Amino acid sequence: MLRNDQLDQWDHDHFFHPSTHLGQFARGEMSNRVITGGEGVFITDRDGNRLLDAFAGLYCVNIGYGRQEVADAIADQAKELAYYHSYVGHGTEASITLAKMIIDRCPANMSRVYFGLSGSDANETNIKIVWYYNNILGRPEKKKIISRWRGYHGSGLMTGSLTGLELFHKKFDLPLSQVLHTEAPYYYRRADLSMSEADFVAHCAHELEAMIESEGADTIAAFIGEPVLGTGGIVPPPEGYWAAIQKVLKKHDILLIADEVVTGFGRLGTMMGSAHYGIEADIICVAKGLTSAYAPLSGSIVSEKVWKVLEQGTDETGPIGHGWTYSAHPIGAAAGVANLKLIDKLDLVANAGEMGDYFNKAMSEALGNRAHVGEVRGEGMLCAVELVEDKANRIFYDPAKKIGPSIAAALLKRDVIARAMPHGDIIGFAPPLCLCKDEADTVVSAAADAIREVCG
Ligand code: PLP
Repeated sequence: MLRNDQLDQWDHDHFFHPSTHLGQFARGEMSNRVITGGEGVFITDRDGNRLLDAFAGLYCVNIGYGRQEVADAIADQAKELAYYHSYVGHGTEASITLAKMIIDRCPANMSRVYFGLSGSDANETNIKIVWYYNNILGRPEKKKIISRWRGYHGSGLMTGSLTGLELFHKKFDLPLSQVLHTEAPYYYRRADLSMSEADFVAHCAHELEAMIESEGADTIAAFIGEPVLGTGGIVPPPEGYWAAIQKVLKKHDILLIADEVVTGFGRLGTMMGSAHYGIEADIICVAKGLTSAYAPLSGSIVSEKVWKVLEQGTDETGPIGHGWTYSAHPIGAAAGVANLKLIDKLDLVANAGEMGDYFNKAMSEALGNRAHVGEVRGEGMLCAVELVEDKANRIFYDPAKKIGPSIAAALLKRDVIARAMPHGDIIGFAPPLCLCKDEADTVVSAAADAIREVCG
């Protein structure tokens, strides 16, 4: 595709881009980028740039770009049957097969999958399920949801509320009143620097329990968390965090929703992040890696315990009043089946574990001792580099200096895409799970150069 001034004009005049500075874009102060192709870990744009996408789109293209098997599955499904709904017991071979494949990859207590189209809508579904569950159990007061500061669960009304990042609340009248936020499991940013990691875990569990007790456990329905905080900064939890949190939740009969939109299907080097951290969730949310984003699809996976109550509910009140036209869309389902098969065939979960370890170690060795690198952290195929102005005293940069975005821009000059995470000067990496050693080395050396250019 050639550069096309008309296309650029239409883009600036008519396309409402998500997560974009709308004024700057409309006024042409920000350039656009038109992506034309992708193969493996690389994407190309219409200007002929070939960029190593070390964030896998939005940590979603787990299998890498340009996989023929998935494209063929989508095309075959579109030719055979592009659409039918899944209401009142309807389905397709693809949607039924995918439900079975998902349950087979989840912890043993998981039972059924409700399909949606995005991580946001899956989490909206999850909260409705939790409310329905407590109403059926005769606990109409047990409705509040506890999320964490820096958690990311989407940008709908309820899910934007669950998201613990101010940017997603400001001017949108969020969070809604049913949502509470507790301490993020972010050891590097603990308020009291004298705390050991074990003390900090105890502190997180204590904060959670104090909130539950002050609100009243009979008003708290569920806790939602990502196994590894993602958009909030790519922060693996401190050792023992999930065990301590689950102990509190069990004691107060509070459901646990594991938001595995990023960690599901291999990213941590295990099929699911829940298995990685011993999380025994009541509901698991998946999206992104379910189809590697070749088609939009998400899943709300409910445990047998929750499912039984949902069954009881429909026995009492009739068919469940929740459904979308595109639930279990055949094209998304076909993409999901082909994607999960490919993840198995290429052994990408194991590669995410092994190459993820290599990548994280290389990043740590290259950058850990730099004056302005406060922390290099990661797990599996997730990695973050956090920048600080004064390392010894852990003083962060003034956000106005835009250190994170400048580093991401410096990486782009080196043909590598990383993400300046929205809160703090944190550079995030989440490459496709098929990353190889040479590609990992390229990303690390570009990051080292980019950080030197910006921070000195
Ligand atoms: N949950 C998590 C953990 C996410 O990272 C995201 C998106 O990044 C979402 C939910 C929302 O997914 P979507 O953008 O598909 O609505």
